[in-house]
Amino acid sequence: MDQPTGLQIPVSQLKGVGIRRAAVLGEAGISTVRDLLYYLPRRYLDRSRILPIAQVPPGQEVTLIGQVRQKRFIPGARPRFVLIVEDGTEEIACVWFQGARYLQRHFDEGDVLALSGKVEHFQGRLQITHPECEFVALTGEPELLHTGGIIPLYTTSADMKEKGLRSRGFRRLVHAALEEFVPQVQDPLPAELLQRLGLPGLGESLRQVHFPRSWEEVAGARRRLAFDECFALQLRLARRRLARRAQTAWPMARSQRLVPALLAGLPFPLTGAQQRVLGEIAADLEQPVRMSRLLQGDVGSGKTLVALAAMLQAVEAGFQAALMAPTEILAEQHGATLGALVGPLGVNVELLVGGLPGARRREALTAIATGAAQMVIGTHALIQDEVEFAGLGLAVIDEQHRFGVAQREELHRKGPGVHLLVMTATPIPRTLALALYGDLETSAIDELPPGRKPVRTALRGVERRPQILEFAASQIREGRQVYVVYPLVEESEKLPVKSASEGFAELREGPLGGFVLGLLHGQLTAEEKNQVARAFKEGEIQALVCTTVVEVGVDVPNATVMIVEHAERFGLAQLHQLRGRVGRGAAQSYCILIAGSQAAEETERLQVLCQTQDGFEIARRDLELRGPGEVLGLRQAGLSDLTAADLARDEELLVAAREEAFRLVESGEADFLAKAFDI
Ligand code: ADP
Ligand code: MG
Repeated sequence: MDQPTGLQIPVSQLKGVGIRRAAVLGEAGISTVRDLLYYLPRRYLDRSRILPIAQVPPGQEVTLIGQVRQKRFIPGARPRFVLIVEDGTEEIACVWFQGARYLQRHFDEGDVLALSGKVEHFQGRLQITHPECEFVALTGEPELLHTGGIIPLYTTSADMKEKGLRSRGFRRLVHAALEEFVPQVQDPLPAELLQRLGLPGLGESLRQVHFPRSWEEVAGARRRLAFDECFALQLRLARRRLARRAQTAWPMARSQRLVPALLAGLPFPLTGAQQRVLGEIAADLEQPVRMSRLLQGDVGSGKTLVALAAMLQAVEAGFQAALMAPTEILAEQHGATLGALVGPLGVNVELLVGGLPGARRREALTAIATGAAQMVIGTHALIQDEVEFAGLGLAVIDEQHRFGVAQREELHRKGPGVHLLVMTATPIPRTLALALYGDLETSAIDELPPGRKPVRTALRGVERRPQILEFAASQIREGRQVYVVYPLVEESEKLPVKSASEGFAELREGPLGGFVLGLLHGQLTAEEKNQVARAFKEGEIQALVCTTVVEVGVDVPNATVMIVEHAERFGLAQLHQLRGRVGRGAAQSYCILIAGSQAAEETERLQVLCQTQDGFEIARRDLELRGPGEVLGLRQAGLSDLTAADLARDEELLVAAREEAFRLVESGEADFLAKAFDI
């Protein structure tokens, strides 16, 4: 192997980094000089906005900066740890009751700290209890002080602090590494591109992100580093797409018989958006190039029919088509609906889910292997090794965000040249779509079937529960059906939250006593689940008490009321999905969110749902409020590598990076970037 050079040199070879420090850095993910230089400040403090301690207004949340003059552990019934911090104008006591004994090791007299918390007057002096605390610097290090007064703060773990790597030690290290290595940094981006996009050079940006002299420098450096992250991501996607487009697939002629027959038999015409999207897919299927298409469409926009038509095109061309859904309930439902639609056309549909009895399962496997099953609908069971297709031509994945990336790729490996259609109802903001699915072609159904009324949505406190249930009862008396959804409760959580089973018992005894109730949750066997889901669909069950097992896909147009208990425990996108279970027919529907907490930020978050029915808008707000990791569980998608870029904010940058990356890859000019961007 080559000797490591430049930024690839291990940190252990830096001056001042011994075995112990190297180990601690390693745990924080820093093993090379490069890692160190890219360990970006978590935030910055603006020194000019920091009040002298003497002027800090009591009772308010503030951040102040001072030097440790004294530290003291005070034993006793309530042991506490006290730091006396001063800044030349006044002193303040910082008090910790929790972890008092342990904390004393982390501070030294002379440390300069940034402290955030609420300042109080206590026994004649200023005090701040359990402040958030970050290490700034020692005043004895003038070369590290910032003339512009901007102080970068790093996330340093307790371990790092132990080994002398709290911010000040850490920054000394970064500073030394910058001095030595920035001259060796080669900017992989052509000067022309940087100029066109107004981005600073790489070496300069690394220096300025750690030791900025102005806010402009902070912003410029961030922008450059964020661009690089977006660019690397888009280069990978561009390459993947190029590779995909080089794969051949079976061309399937447009359907002359089955699709027209399907459409003629429907009680309604396709919407314009459905027709357009179906046209896009049909055109792809005709090509001898593998289709990889993402079909986006808000809940209830009618994706299933579009998928079905595509599947019929494959069947008519002599291939098998498979549809994979994330839950058995949904697979069953698709099996029943699609079966009813294509049975009359003479197409054989087979269902393959985990819960099938042995004999049925063997029959299904045989039908799939011989080709007797022209359409196969199932769950993850479809991607098991024993499932062999006679001639799979099209794989459709419903609610694809519920599957891992690997699972998504597996179904189309069940045959050579299988076309792939993935569908999602989780509307993702454009930035996320570009980041996650940038290698797929996309189609969007951006129109709901006519006659749908917006679901009236309300946020209510628990004290209104009796009226809400009374309202639900009145809807049932009018012949409608109702969902009552409870959050999943872990046994270990001692929160006063009711589980679906408890809720079921209570509703049956009380407010909804006169009606037929069903209970649906993950602990039931597959067969029990299906029984309940079917009975609800047939209208035998009037109110379905459930967990989020109904979150995706379930389609019962007669249901008009969705009540969500402890709505604060759900994500916005999830609530939007739940709400999508109602409003599927022509009758006015209602979604009532019962909030167990009245905290202002919770209320604000849940209000988003009352304000809009637009899934994209909701997703955007969700992304802003919770960040991409929470929203989509992005670890697997590699987006957790994004540290400088912020997908909620950097749309313009991501789009620019995408244009550049795709242009370079598609014109075959990107090879020189491969090493620098690790693609
Ligand atoms: P989703 O996009 O959420 O998967 P579905 O495919 O389940 O939506 O469709 C929702 C409901 O709308 C179904 O009951 C379906 O029969 C109905 N539907 C689909 N397309 C149309 C249309 N063009 N006109 C009227 N109703 C439609
Ligand atoms: Mg669906």
